[in-house]
Amino acid sequence: MPTAAVGMEALVKEQAWLAIDTSSLVLLVVDGESGITPLDVEIAKLLREKNKHSIVVVNKVDNLDREMLVHEFYRLGMGQPLPVSALHGTGTGELLEKVEESLGETPPVEESSDAIRVAVIGKPNVGKSSLVNRLLHQKRMLVDEQPGTTRDSVDSLLHCDGHEFMLIDTAGLRRKRSVSDKVEVYCVVRAVRSVERANVVFVLFDASVPLTAQDIRIAALAYRSGKASVVVFNKWDLVKKDSRTSIELEKLMKEQIPFLQHMPAVFVSALTGQRVSELPRLALSVLSESRRELGEEELTRALQIAVEKKKPPVSRSGHTPSIKRAFQSSVEPPTFTLMTNDARAFRKAYILYLMRCLRQRFGFDGTPIRLKLRTVIRKRG
Ligand code: GDP
Repeated sequence: MPTAAVGMEALVKEQAWLAIDTSSLVLLVVDGESGITPLDVEIAKLLREKNKHSIVVVNKVDNLDREMLVHEFYRLGMGQPLPVSALHGTGTGELLEKVEESLGETPPVEESSDAIRVAVIGKPNVGKSSLVNRLLHQKRMLVDEQPGTTRDSVDSLLHCDGHEFMLIDTAGLRRKRSVSDKVEVYCVVRAVRSVERANVVFVLFDASVPLTAQDIRIAALAYRSGKASVVVFNKWDLVKKDSRTSIELEKLMKEQIPFLQHMPAVFVSALTGQRVSELPRLALSVLSESRRELGEEELTRALQIAVEKKKPPVSRSGHTPSIKRAFQSSVEPPTFTLMTNDARAFRKAYILYLMRCLRQRFGFDGTPIRLKLRTVIRKRG
């Protein structure tokens, strides 16, 4: 780690290293105008030691001699540097190509166990570590620590009612090493990594305070990566409540965060343990929804009924969109491929309508679903 690691600088560096640890490729951006600095040399040395796949990107090269620059930064010992100008966009196409090329070589993370992998995410202080500790100390749950996939991550294996759950990155959640654990960048980097590895995500909110933009940003990670999710309102012990409070809170959350409207919500207290034991059952339920498979016939039929009920609007090009057939192309999340006469003729609102119809007919509670529209090319003759 570069020297002078104090205060904010140390924090930023710690976050940078965490990001590096959890990434597949590092772009080391250096300043072409100022030339090689001692910090560049130090970082390059550490990246080499860590054996990290890296590309040196020399920025601000507009008015400079590129060949000389490339020659100079070659001394960092990290292969051929790439000159760019972020300001004018020069060299960025080539950079993207290089990035794609390099990522193509990265092997996917190998998971060592068949257990159901669960990530617990939420903004700082919602009670992630308390909940994980509570889960690990529940009666009837046997716990076993396993090395995770990154340097300092440890997963915990939980045996519960005949099922195995792997809580991802429990070390990162439980051991607060420094104040940086409370900084958003840190927690987002960690959450991204955990979500990627998960089959099921527990999205934690603090029930005792209003939801914030930060809650929504973190929740979106799970949805965007198509993961089965359970919304967990924690700190339920702090909430003054009557018989309608949970219903109202759930309704408000679904209005504020529409993409979570199909995810089950549960109201727990990591402090008292209230309802924490329901979490494994909920995880199983959302996972089984996300692994469900529909047959081609029932899927096509359901979509045709939806189309009969509400015809798709005629497109600008004068086409009446129609669905020839549909089949499920993958699970986790359930993804359906629709063979149509013209995929581009379907408006977004209509695709959302079809998704609503599928949910009404088949459920899929707790998992995102995806539709892929393809155009069937008609053969001439
Ligand atoms: P994290 O940053 O998301 O891991 O949150 P922590 O687990 O460190 O919890 C943050 C604070 O909230 C701590 O002071 C916990 O004791 C407290 N806390 C966590 N869960 C609950 C809960 O269910 N009820 C109450 N009253 N406090 C809680």
